[in-house]
Amino acid sequence: MADVVIEGDRIVDVGPSMDGDENVDCAGQLLVPGFIDCHTHIGLTLYMSPVALMVPRSVHLFSVVPVLQTLLERGVTTVRDAAGADAGVQQALVNGWISGPEVLVSLVQLSTTGGIGDAWLPGLGKLDGSTDPALPESVFDGPDQARAAVRRMVRAGADWIKLAASGSMMQGGRAHDVQMTADEMAAVVEEATRHGGRQVMVHAHSARAVEAAARAGAHSIEHGVWLDEDAVAAMVEAGCFLVPTLSITQSDPEGNPPGAAEAHRRSVQMAIDAGVPIAMGSDNPVRPHTEVLREIEHLSAAGLGRKRAFRAATLDAAKLLRVDHDRGELTPGKRADIVALQGTDLEVVGLENRICTVWHNGQQVNRKH
Ligand SMILES: [Zn+2]
Repeated sequence: MADVVIEGDRIVDVGPSMDGDENVDCAGQLLVPGFIDCHTHIGLTLYMSPVALMVPRSVHLFSVVPVLQTLLERGVTTVRDAAGADAGVQQALVNGWISGPEVLVSLVQLSTTGGIGDAWLPGLGKLDGSTDPALPESVFDGPDQARAAVRRMVRAGADWIKLAASGSMMQGGRAHDVQMTADEMAAVVEEATRHGGRQVMVHAHSARAVEAAARAGAHSIEHGVWLDEDAVAAMVEAGCFLVPTLSITQSDPEGNPPGAAEAHRRSVQMAIDAGVPIAMGSDNPVRPHTEVLREIEHLSAAGLGRKRAFRAATLDAAKLLRVDHDRGELTPGKRADIVALQGTDLEVVGLENRICTVWHNGQQVNRKH
């Protein structure tokens, strides 16, 4: 039993028998740090549905509002958006027009011609209107264009640079492609680093794409469904994180290429065994945002165990996002992002049903959904 004392947006003391101006009784509950989702898409809820092109652009922008509220109510207090949201979301949050977790943005995924960011249909050609026209062009070829693409993202307010090194599972049979050269990836990393030390998150499913990205200096590999020993060794050498986003294969194993669910679990286990740091990312809305905490369950089951799965969603995620000086633990001086869970054990199954109270920046979150 211990008390946590909050003043303003900070935790100021943790220990037994302390008092504050107001008391919230959390007896029989477990207090954990606010959760951090390192890979989500808060602005893509409608994107994959047939109505995506049938509604005014503002509908996409407004769709972010309930998503952020949903995440906050589930104890998610920081997210890294892995493409789709623009920097205006941050201004709306800072101005208090909407409530939600703190959002780091990557804007659009950088991709080469024919890569996953190159929206093109045989019968229509280039789909210029398929993403927000205010977001920068993300398709490039060659190291010089790669640098220009990074500069466009920085100009538009990107906190992180997102890169697509392999195909996607939705690009029929192209998930194993390495869609970028080593020179192109290295140019992106170098350019990002020169701009305020920005870091690079790399979408990569296949071992060869992961290995090349790690060698080019990627800071986190996203997905990593098909890893092998060389890929994992390159990640260890580079000190690179893995954000497995297990929800994409574990929540609906039938909807993926045959064997992907097993391969993904095997890859995560291989990375854990080799000492690759793991951080939590849901990749929602692949699954509804209401299911965000299921990713912690998947991480635990894939070999992390319950304690480390919690850490992957708190302190280790904070380390990846370089905010561990400020959050990720319930210690004095850190931001008062706190989740009170019903029950006192570290059970990871059914977490969303155990949320009692959430505090974000020291403020209690009111539940609306
Ligand atoms: Zn994603």
